[in-house]
Amino acid sequence: MRVYSIPMRTRFRGVTRREGVLVRGRAGWGEFSPFPEYGPAECARWLAAAREAACDGWPAPVRDTVPVNVTIPAVGPERAHAMTKESGCRTAKVKVAERGQSDADDLARVEAVRDAIGPDGRVRIDVNGGWDVDHAARMIRSLDRWELEYVEQPCATLEELARVRRRVDVPVAADESIRRAEDPLKVRAAGAADVAVLKVQPLGGVAAALRVAEACGLPVVVSSAVETSVGLAAGAALAAALPELPYACGLGTLSLLEGDVVEDPLRPVAGVIAVRRPVVDEEALRRWEVSGEARDEGWRERAAAAQARLGGPPVIGAAP
Ligand SMILES: [Mg+2]
Repeated sequence: MRVYSIPMRTRFRGVTRREGVLVRGRAGWGEFSPFPEYGPAECARWLAAAREAACDGWPAPVRDTVPVNVTIPAVGPERAHAMTKESGCRTAKVKVAERGQSDADDLARVEAVRDAIGPDGRVRIDVNGGWDVDHAARMIRSLDRWELEYVEQPCATLEELARVRRRVDVPVAADESIRRAEDPLKVRAAGAADVAVLKVQPLGGVAAALRVAEACGLPVVVSSAVETSVGLAAGAALAAALPELPYACGLGTLSLLEGDVVEDPLRPVAGVIAVRRPVVDEEALRRWEVSGEARDEGWRERAAAAQARLGGPPVIGAAP
């Protein structure tokens, strides 16, 4: 068990450092990096994903590259334009509804991104549940003059998503509404979304996420949980194993971290990432490794509590 702590370039989910555990098994390295507020039941699924990566390996890929989107944070239009151009990506996800900003800020940012990416590029927005139904319907119609690919989580609840979906022509994607394996089925039953955003660790691994994708029957966008390249490789494996991949994935997130733990990080090149397992580099890992009994003990306890829920062979602390 190796504990890492890497500073975030921008604050995310209230955290300024991304922390987690890397484990090595016969199949390779796995990542266990649940967010700090998650309890044992939730952590058990994240641990199952680490066990799959380290011990079992992943389903066979049907493609060897995965297109990814650039994420444009709530920056001004000039910066948004430059970030889109520099990314080389053909899909941009624009964050909107940032607290303290106005609708006009969102309109200016989306306009700038559409201008930068050109008429053939795709532009999606991510609201992170920040609008109510009326506000969402109004803003989506207004922003769609720049042709939106879809709108991610315009409102917080499934009921609201379903109401928005009935009022606009732009497809709706569910992200925060999907945290557990049964959630995509609920999303579908509620008529709340056209697209499901799936993440490997919260769903308990690549094979489990693949089953969820199949069961819910919606097109899937694979997203990261802002992991190191070890965790991102699992996301790429899921995206690579899906029978259909109509949308660019949210796996180009390494740039949110100050560093990485592998020799050959999973960074997008010309808008795609390769489907491969990067090799953990001892020197890079040591740079971000936190030693100290208290920290190790904290992670050992979290893993043990998750292990107790998960059952099966121990993931952390077992001989490789
Ligand atoms: Mg999102």
